[in-house]
Amino acid sequence: MTLPIVLTSPQDVDDWHPDGTLGLVPTMGALHAGHASLIQRAATECDEVIVSIFVNPTQFSNPADLARYPRPFEMDRAYAGRAGATAIYAPEPETVYPEGHATRISVSGVTDLWEGAARPGHFDGVATVVSILLNQIQPVRSYFGEKDWQQLAVIRRLATDLSLPGTIVGCPSVRDRDGLALSSRNARLTDDQRESALALSAALHVMRNLVRNGEQATGNLLSAGNELIDQQPDIDLDYLAVVHPESLAPLDTIVQGARALVAAHIGETRLIDTMDLTEPAEGTTIRA
Ligand code: AMP
Repeated sequence: MTLPIVLTSPQDVDDWHPDGTLGLVPTMGALHAGHASLIQRAATECDEVIVSIFVNPTQFSNPADLARYPRPFEMDRAYAGRAGATAIYAPEPETVYPEGHATRISVSGVTDLWEGAARPGHFDGVATVVSILLNQIQPVRSYFGEKDWQQLAVIRRLATDLSLPGTIVGCPSVRDRDGLALSSRNARLTDDQRESALALSAALHVMRNLVRNGEQATGNLLSAGNELIDQQPDIDLDYLAVVHPESLAPLDTIVQGARALVAAHIGETRLIDTMDLTEPAEGTTIRA
């Protein structure tokens, strides 16, 4: 396999820009099978796939979290290539935010609650970097994970409101065999913490099963989910919610596409997960 070409500036991207359809998969690196599923999907739908690897400083509020974010660049490059990437865009922070950069993009409404409330400024950083990347790369399609459901909702709003280039494509969450949603942060969990973390996805599954059995009242769903999570003293729950899939407003009663969202700290590690509670059959992708 030829390794994907590495591009580090918008000029590099312009010089390389292929004739066929270009798909973009924005990431912060430390790639895993969740990222691979996005790259594979892009490779089936586009002639060329560019994976951006950029640990975006403006979406971190904690400098220590930013500093310790893993950056295994050469492994990521090879892994992205095996999944179908033809190019890697790996700019330095000064390339994305040159001296004098003074613009922040803020999406309102859909950012009011959940991750937006828990991590002030986070979605401004995400919206800003996604706008820059889409404008620099001009993809025909950009691929994002449903695992970060609120982020996907923010990006859809942003892309519509600012007429960003290309189509935004959401891709299903990939889980490990035990149900834990894949995340670059899972590597930080001890074995015991990982065992406790399973209660998060288990709670979402229990809630979805209740909906399949006819439960419509979100109060009852949340009680069942919370009961499971409460059994794990290691879990410091941030929120468990049932929300409208687009507005992300809390729901009293299930509607089509209603989403459960969960976020929790386990030790120092913050994990999030989500599930479509109205999905008719097993719809999640399990890592092979
Ligand atoms: P990140 O590198 O964490 O910024 O993630 C880059 C992209 O991969 C985002 O669009 C994420 O939503 C997506 N992603 C991360 N984990 C998963 C997963 N387990 N399944 C599917 N997509 C994922």
